[in-house]
Amino acid sequence: MVTLDKIVRLANEGQFDSSGPKIYDLNNIDMQKVKTLGEGTKHDICASTASKRQVADVSGRIGDVVKAGVCHAFTPDGRCVGMFKTLFTNACQHECKYCPNATLSHRPKIQKYTPEELAKLTLMLYRGNYVEGLFLSSGIAGNEDQTMEDMIESVRLLREKYSFQGYIHMKVLPGASYEHIKQASELVDRVSINIETPSKSYMSELSSTKDYDNDILQRQKYIRHNIGKGRFPAGQTTQFIVGAAQETDKEIFKSMLNEYEEMEVKRSYFSAFNSVKGTELENTPSQPQWRENKLYQVDWLHRIYKFQNKEIEHAFDEDGFLFNKDPKLSIALNIIDSSIDPNEATQEQLLRIPGIGPKSAYGILKLRKRERIWKNEQLARIGVVTKRARYFLKLNGWEYSSLEDWS
Ligand code: SF4
Repeated sequence: MVTLDKIVRLANEGQFDSSGPKIYDLNNIDMQKVKTLGEGTKHDICASTASKRQVADVSGRIGDVVKAGVCHAFTPDGRCVGMFKTLFTNACQHECKYCPNATLSHRPKIQKYTPEELAKLTLMLYRGNYVEGLFLSSGIAGNEDQTMEDMIESVRLLREKYSFQGYIHMKVLPGASYEHIKQASELVDRVSINIETPSKSYMSELSSTKDYDNDILQRQKYIRHNIGKGRFPAGQTTQFIVGAAQETDKEIFKSMLNEYEEMEVKRSYFSAFNSVKGTELENTPSQPQWRENKLYQVDWLHRIYKFQNKEIEHAFDEDGFLFNKDPKLSIALNIIDSSIDPNEATQEQLLRIPGIGPKSAYGILKLRKRERIWKNEQLARIGVVTKRARYFLKLNGWEYSSLEDWS
């Protein structure tokens, strides 16, 4: 794993570009710039690794990114790639109250790459085998057209001048033009624009300058219109900041559904609000990590398990917030009214049992063609988490009579 600190150290030691002729004078790299612009992306999530962790550890942090510098993403062909993660500039004309780049924040010294600098820096990391791609985000210096042009020029240089074949995820700036989005579609693999909140009114609480409908939703429609025929092959994604306004989890969930259905986003990411010193919201309490984790779990139930929306409703309390427990369990306690015999159940029924995922549900269907299922050990061997599933199962006519262990 290469971190931002390591990138800076490698550059300082002249160890970047061991695999070919030097294309950049390392003495000219401003290390403080590399560091500031790398650190400026730490709240941007590009990591599809979230989904893997979700299966493995439902109680741990999900959707996390490694420290600023490098993040990971899965390409459309399933490869996991490490990407150099940076801002183009940390200057921004907007006044988003949670953001350290906003005009009203006490931001660090304004830094900005030139397109040539950024292209060469990325290329050197790529050639040194430290990264396989670029995740490029930015504030808006001056206006969105100028910054979009600079970002597009950076990736154009990479693709056309330096024949860079690596994966590129580029953030589209709020208010970016249709023409710039179209140009980006021919150069980058994945694109995203952060929706941040579930509604226009919440956005107006967080930013006096960003127009929810025009700067964000309209740009997502432009992106959607440009996906296909080799353009944006990895589609578009989005990100919610959780709890910066007073929005409920249910409102985020509904907005997420709209993002999948209406905007055709491939993934929604969630970032629990973290108050940053020097921003307008520095005294607003940070949100607990578990809130972000539960939203990822609900997203997983929707996308992978194909739960109905009315089933997922059971995961929310009466105020619209998720409980700090496994949402699949909350749902199961509401919708499963009698023990289920794995020899008889449909795949859909099996998937609703805590401890049984898509792979183990499929395993049960295969297993019961060969033998009758009558004990937990048979299920454990094919990946069922029996200490969770057994309370909902009837095996050999026997069932757990109490769900007390869950409370
Ligand atoms: S538009 Fe983006 S970079 Fe600019 S202040 Fe808002 S959140 Fe920060």
